Amino acid sequence: MQFECACSKKCGGCDYIGIDYKDQLQKKTKYIQSLVGGFCKISPIIGMEDPLYYRCKVTATYTYLKNGSYISGVYEKGTHRVVKVDDCLITDSEANRIAVTIRDLLKSFKIKTFNEDTGYGLLRHVQIRVGKNTGQIMVILVCSNPTFPGKNNFVKALRDIHPDISTVILNINDKKTSMVLGDRNIVMYGRGYIEDELCGLRFKISPGSFYQVNPVQTEILYKTAIEYAGLTGTETVMDAYCGTGTIGLIASKKAGEVISVELNKDAVKDAISNAKNNGIKNVRFHQADATNYIRHLADSGEYRPDCIFMDPPRNGSTPEFIDAVKKLSPSRVVYVSCGPESLARDLKLFTKSGYRVKKIQPVDCFPFTRHIETVVLLEK
Ligand code: SAH
Repeated sequence: MQFECACSKKCGGCDYIGIDYKDQLQKKTKYIQSLVGGFCKISPIIGMEDPLYYRCKVTATYTYLKNGSYISGVYEKGTHRVVKVDDCLITDSEANRIAVTIRDLLKSFKIKTFNEDTGYGLLRHVQIRVGKNTGQIMVILVCSNPTFPGKNNFVKALRDIHPDISTVILNINDKKTSMVLGDRNIVMYGRGYIEDELCGLRFKISPGSFYQVNPVQTEILYKTAIEYAGLTGTETVMDAYCGTGTIGLIASKKAGEVISVELNKDAVKDAISNAKNNGIKNVRFHQADATNYIRHLADSGEYRPDCIFMDPPRNGSTPEFIDAVKKLSPSRVVYVSCGPESLARDLKLFTKSGYRVKKIQPVDCFPFTRHIETVVLLEK
């Protein structure tokens, strides 16, 4: 399977475009092997049957050209020039189509795109998120101020063409920043969030909260992580860097109790409603820095987890976190990583703290890009 993309050179999002999918998997395997192969034997990477149009989230940037036309797409690698993208091969097809429809509507509604240099204009970005297993779609219009001319008609025109859009949100980002979303959300249509289903549970996704971008592979990732934990129904489990609570909530059926920790306030709010909506009563959430929280646990002896799931961002965890794990001494740690380099660094520290790497399972959650997710089982 080999695919070409008209804008891949400028967009820079797909490092492996033009490379046969099997060869992409091989490249990833080699890379993981070079970084963590010394710890234990690596299971064969789990790839996708159909590796196209998998992303359930897209951020499109819009710009207005001197000739009066609009383009939408992504910033050219390393610049703030917009590359036109109409049909991104790795983004959900309906999300691609919505991004293009919005571009056409901007013209008819005479909405100016935001200019980063001058600070003039309204629309900065559009973010589209799709609940692949529920069909719900969220459109977030990121604007420099809350005055959106003809907003009800705009939403109506958009929904007339894409009736599957379940909510439209106006997000206000008035700062000089490269962050996409601002702090304020105004619901223009629908409930202000969408839901998706994973491993038999329903999850709420708000504009600001993290949700894995490839639901098909995420199910495999989570199932592997939970299988590695080897829970019997009585354990005290910690889910560190829990996002909207996914791993801990899915694991809760097989655990005595789960304590989940996450820094992002919106994600914690979503996690609490996710527990409630799924009728789960044995999971507690703490909004805190994972390192601070686990150090507090190690010092206070409040409780001692039997098993820890940890799924940190790309730059990994911290030496202090790993030191606190050593003190708490759970028999198993399941490390879910999206950053192979930081994983290698952190595994080294774990092996110095009395843990052994027992299993490593790479999962290809990001076909056509160089990114990889890896699940690792550590035992005392
Ligand atoms: N396990 C979740 C989220 C993984 S992404 C899932 O699979 O969906 C990593 C998460 O770590 C994000 O939700 C991010 O907000 C959170 N995070 C980042 N830094 C953190 C910190 N210092 N302490 C706790 N959580 C943090």
